[in-house]
Amino acid sequence: MESKEVEFSFSSPPLSSTRWWCRDTVAVVTGANKGIGFALVKRFAELGLTVVLTARDVERGNKAAESLREQGLPNVHFSPLDVSKPASIQTFVSWLDTTFGGLDILVNNAAVSFNEIDENSVEYAETVIKTNFYGAKLLTESLLPLFRFSTSISRILNISSRLGSMNKVRDLNIKATLQNERLSEEQIEEVVNLFLQSVKNGTWQSEGWPEIWTDYSVSKLALNAYSRVLAKRFQGSRLSINCFCPGFTQTSMTRGQGTHTPDEAAEVGARLALLPPDHLPTGQFFLGFGPYNKSKL
Ligand code: NDP
Repeated sequence: MESKEVEFSFSSPPLSSTRWWCRDTVAVVTGANKGIGFALVKRFAELGLTVVLTARDVERGNKAAESLREQGLPNVHFSPLDVSKPASIQTFVSWLDTTFGGLDILVNNAAVSFNEIDENSVEYAETVIKTNFYGAKLLTESLLPLFRFSTSISRILNISSRLGSMNKVRDLNIKATLQNERLSEEQIEEVVNLFLQSVKNGTWQSEGWPEIWTDYSVSKLALNAYSRVLAKRFQGSRLSINCFCPGFTQTSMTRGQGTHTPDEAAEVGARLALLPPDHLPTGQFFLGFGPYNKSKL
């Protein structure tokens, strides 16, 4: 069954009046040297959290963090992190442990797409899947022991896309597998491998995969499915896992096209990541912009 979208309201009190965090609250954002990730770091820092801006390129990352510190946000720290490289993840996790002793918020934002808006090549499918799905998954799994599980509730916000929604999948078997209540991480990886195999075979176009930005959509489909499984794994504990689609945003990924700016997308993302503990759901997919919607993952 497709999950039903319900309207979600942000008309609740302004962020500053629901403040549960403090200077010691640590938020990590991946792929944050530009775009939505950079805007999220800025917003978190303005709101007074300690923020770790990560980027795969040291120069770009340092420059981005420095520009925020120059804007009067000394609570922004940079650390290199390439989510597609397990060794880089390992180095980052031990740096975070040594430097801050843990974290409270993780935003898996880093992602790639190699297509122009109206293209659908799968030439770089492996890199897309490796970065957008496996990168977020491996980083999450590696950071799980460092979450503080405090009363304020630790949070993971996966920046996803409506292109990875279940209703974009046209193959009924794949859909049934992913929608099964007992879905396992192994089954998600099997679906991803099936897609990569169909790319190798040259059969992907006739197999009922999402029709737009297919490799990217499959990566986000897998990320959504993993988020659902993870939310179930941590049900009842002090860790919430949700996904957020920022909508069509003016960034490098869209070659500057979109209906709104990264700052506007980040405002909604920050509100979600910082929901008060007693209003924080888990296992939800939030659709920002347009009417705000949330649905079960
Ligand atoms: P950008 O291309 O502007 O930013 C992507 C960021 O990810 C860059 O900082 C990039 O670094 C980084 N990145 C790429 N690969 C890696 C890697 N291996 N390790 C670490 N960082 C990496 O795109 P957006 O800001 O638009 O995208 C942010 C998120 O929002 C993504 O998850 C995207 O899928 C999602 N999204 C965006 C939409 C939009 O309309 N823009 C719509 C729906 C979802 P570098 O500069 O080095 O390339």
